[in-house]
Amino acid sequence: MTKQTAPYAARFSQQIAGGAPCFPFWKGRVALYAILKALGIAPGDEVVVPGYTCVMNINPVKYCGACPIYVDIDPKTYNVDPGRVEAAITPRTRVIIAQHTYGIPCDMDVLLAIGKKHGVPVIEDCCLALGSTYKGRLCGTMGVAAYWSFQWSKTVTTGIGGMAAVNDPVLAEKVRVLCAQAKNPSLRTTTLLDLQRLAHRFLLYPKTAAFATALFRWLTAKGVVIGSSSSQEFNPVEALDFFMGMSVGQARAGLRGLSFLEKNRDHRQELLKLYEDELKGKEALLPQPPVGGAPVYVRYPVRVKDKQFILKEAVSRRMEIGSWFESPLHPHETPLSPYNYTLGQCPEAERAAREVVNLPLHPRVTRTEAERSVRFIAEHLAGE
Ligand SMILES: *Cc1c(COP(=O)(O)O)cnc(C)c1O
Repeated sequence: MTKQTAPYAARFSQQIAGGAPCFPFWKGRVALYAILKALGIAPGDEVVVPGYTCVMNINPVKYCGACPIYVDIDPKTYNVDPGRVEAAITPRTRVIIAQHTYGIPCDMDVLLAIGKKHGVPVIEDCCLALGSTYKGRLCGTMGVAAYWSFQWSKTVTTGIGGMAAVNDPVLAEKVRVLCAQAKNPSLRTTTLLDLQRLAHRFLLYPKTAAFATALFRWLTAKGVVIGSSSSQEFNPVEALDFFMGMSVGQARAGLRGLSFLEKNRDHRQELLKLYEDELKGKEALLPQPPVGGAPVYVRYPVRVKDKQFILKEAVSRRMEIGSWFESPLHPHETPLSPYNYTLGQCPEAERAAREVVNLPLHPRVTRTEAERSVRFIAEHLAGE
């Protein structure tokens, strides 16, 4: 952390993390890595994760030499099925990662109780759940530590970026030391990211999203822009430039994002209401948060009949309809065996990967666009 990034960490701590010490990083996955390292995760250890996540989230586990143990999801919440977590615990289990998928809080009472019973700490993955609460408590304040991502598609974005919050003083000290050791991103990297953020601000609207995303991926592959991911992600070996801190530009963007958070959240609630109204009577295809869970959805998941058709049509009709996760380890190109996943292991997660598309809620989606998208989806729901 530097003098320039500290104000963002402080503001984030107050506004989002219940006052816990916060540590900014280059990406959310780097924040997770720092937490795992601080916990002393090493070869031979096991980490319980949901079988419905992205490969970027599993890499830090692999970089520590640990083995991810996948637990299937509850199809109603898209989070680990708490009833299956205990069976996954072995004498080697060192961490449970509670990923609040799409912004839906995990059933934390159950997960924390299992963790306590077996002496295993719970880390909250809040990358999709900035501002969500569970029984009145903010996501990120319940586990031993938590992390957030500020990548393009998240509730608050800095282009690329991440934050760790630590709710245990001894562990916080260790993360503080690690954060101080993180390399600063190079001037070339930060300048490119600053330019990309600018481009994103002016160019990325629902009507252009598909085109802009394709262009961005192409440029990333050419090495012209800083991608949030690269093919390096499919290799569970730590890269030299992985462990980096947050830049000044990211921290500034983050502060700006937090200052608009209230508006951002109101907009999300308004569009959510619109989606729920349009999909009334179809609750079986919609998420059902656990008792006491109050999500701030990052995007709204819906089960459809023919996902590939929907995604293709959405591009040609210029609607922004998304697809997370396309595989138990998003994206679909991820080779599963190097990541210790066997097809068929998490059937509900695999079914969700086949059936679920998501509707946008971000501040640039207008009511009209939201209406168009949800009405299109309503004609193609699963099981009809
Ligand atoms: C985005 C995301 C991450 C990783 O965030 P980065 O900042 O891209 O490293 C981890 N977990 C979940 C659930 C995410 O959605």
